[in-house]
Amino acid sequence: MLNRWNDRTAAEYTSPLALRVYTSRLLGQDPSLVLHGGGNTSVKETVRNLLGIEEEILYVKGSGWDLETIEEAGFPAVKLEHLIALARLPALSDMQMVNELRTHMTRASAPTPSVEAILHAVIPHKYVDHTHADALIAITNTAAGRERIAEVFGDDVVVIPYVMPGFDLARLCGERFAKESTSKTIGMVLMNHGIFSFGSTARESYERMIELVARAEDYLKRQGAWDLPAPAPSAPTEGPALRLALATLRRDASRAAGFPLLLVAQRDARSLDFARRPDLAVLTQQGPATPDHVIRTKRIPLLGRDVAAYVAAYQTYFEEHAPRARDKKTMLDPAPRVVIDPEFGVCALGRSAKDAGIVADIYDHTIEILLRAQALGGYRALPAGDIFDVEYWDLEQAKLKSAGATPPFAGEVVLVTGAASGIGKACAEQFLKQGAAVIGFDIDAGVERVAHHPAYLGRVCDVTKEQELAAALEAGVRRFGGLDMLVLNAGIFPPSRRLEALDSREWRRVFDINLDANLNLLREAHPLLKLSPRGGRVVIIGSKNVAAPGPGVAAYSASKAALTQLARVAALEWGEDGIRVNSIHPDAVFDTAIWTDEVLQARAKNYGLTIENYKRKNILRTEIQSRDVAEMAIAMCGPLFSRTTGAQVPLDGGNDRVI
Ligand code: ZN
Repeated sequence: MLNRWNDRTAAEYTSPLALRVYTSRLLGQDPSLVLHGGGNTSVKETVRNLLGIEEEILYVKGSGWDLETIEEAGFPAVKLEHLIALARLPALSDMQMVNELRTHMTRASAPTPSVEAILHAVIPHKYVDHTHADALIAITNTAAGRERIAEVFGDDVVVIPYVMPGFDLARLCGERFAKESTSKTIGMVLMNHGIFSFGSTARESYERMIELVARAEDYLKRQGAWDLPAPAPSAPTEGPALRLALATLRRDASRAAGFPLLLVAQRDARSLDFARRPDLAVLTQQGPATPDHVIRTKRIPLLGRDVAAYVAAYQTYFEEHAPRARDKKTMLDPAPRVVIDPEFGVCALGRSAKDAGIVADIYDHTIEILLRAQALGGYRALPAGDIFDVEYWDLEQAKLKSAGATPPFAGEVVLVTGAASGIGKACAEQFLKQGAAVIGFDIDAGVERVAHHPAYLGRVCDVTKEQELAAALEAGVRRFGGLDMLVLNAGIFPPSRRLEALDSREWRRVFDINLDANLNLLREAHPLLKLSPRGGRVVIIGSKNVAAPGPGVAAYSASKAALTQLARVAALEWGEDGIRVNSIHPDAVFDTAIWTDEVLQARAKNYGLTIENYKRKNILRTEIQSRDVAEMAIAMCGPLFSRTTGAQVPLDGGNDRVI
């Protein structure tokens, strides 16, 4: 356990709340303490209100904030006296509790206080820190967990048996703490859940947390349960068969969910080694390490690829536990979020790359907890009923809903060629904005820097080289689980040349890139597009020149005309696979790599126009930008074009020859 307290940095945080921010971030920086919104912290302070009256205030983490990045605004101020009075009530429903928390804040715009706010209020110390430390959970989640905790901490902590988070837990903690704490007490262990520390200063509370968790780690070391054996070296399988198998699994899971999901396959040595353990059925099928993981990972992972069996088991689990609930529950989607398979390794599923990343991180830590608990004599999770209660707890579900509306292409994957600049780059950016995961290919290394986003993968790739194309496609599928949409944009526009001066090699090169490479990619992508949960979509970036060629551009015009014909045949052949193929014929998109000053000048000269007049040479006298083409591509992949295939849409401001 690293103590991250730094006197010099701490000195920059002067008020009690500012120091609360500082040490909350220190906790948040250690993923073995808290992960993705987990854990919470608070500070109690006397504040003079607008009328000059002193009030005791609890600043407690607001829901939706992450400890690692929290700011003062992330701590709603709640009236402490009221919270302590609430804790004396015999019962309080969730709705009542949230109402009381929200109506007793002193800042109307603040976020809703953590569901553990009352628990923080009843601990009579200025600073309170709460984490779901991995090392602690590895000890509590064993058959003799209670005895082991006593052995590790003696009477330095108060131990609370497992109770679901919320009012009942807060009340129980308040009672037990009042009865059992002594002047020696520096923490509180919540069995199968996490740990609290507290103190009179931010530093004291933080350092006690570090000390307590370090003791748990030392215990694991003494028991020989800390160092995990090195993973056996393994040769992961590669190739088209693996790609299709992954995409099939993603399709099945998405169907079970009722919406597309991304699937991130982790196939490093450690993940593969875990996925090949003979005792997975015992180890992984009991339940999560700490209950609030359930809303991200579901109660248990799917072992193997039988999604239908997982769905059936989930239904049974729901039907078994739903009748106990006070209010009527509606079943959540029954799709797995973690899949463990000897060939795929450990897969995480989510509606966005960020969500899948959270699932992957949580399960990564879960694996360590499982293995350490196993080394202590056997992992023991809470009964399924307790996990169900948290999974179907409205206050937990509200955490997910607060993430906002789902964007139109959430869970879907698009591959854009020529993504480093111009139309391709605009497509990559717009699809990202609309929630899609984007794989960008380009021969230009700039493709790797188009976006810094978990949903973006840029690959340097010469689309004319079949092997490079296949390898890049493989990397994309491993990252996101499949392919739903393809935007064929990569192309070149050679210098203007009349037929009598047209070199055969140049002609071939234009066809290689503008036509042949697209055939290769279409052929390789077809089986993946066929597995798209919503049906595959292809958008071809053609050219005005298909309908209205210009002098001096024979190779370009002929290659785009052939590409258009290829797209029409693809539309005919692939309709039965649910794949739509539509083309855009843009003209005069000048913010692209094709339009160097040299090309622009030559084209303008061909028409006897100035560059300025050449740019607006269309019926609507309008300018067309890459972004306009990207939005048309998005429309063609969206519901507006759901009944259209084989279409060719001009995007040229109106051209009399085309019309
Ligand atoms: Zn907690």
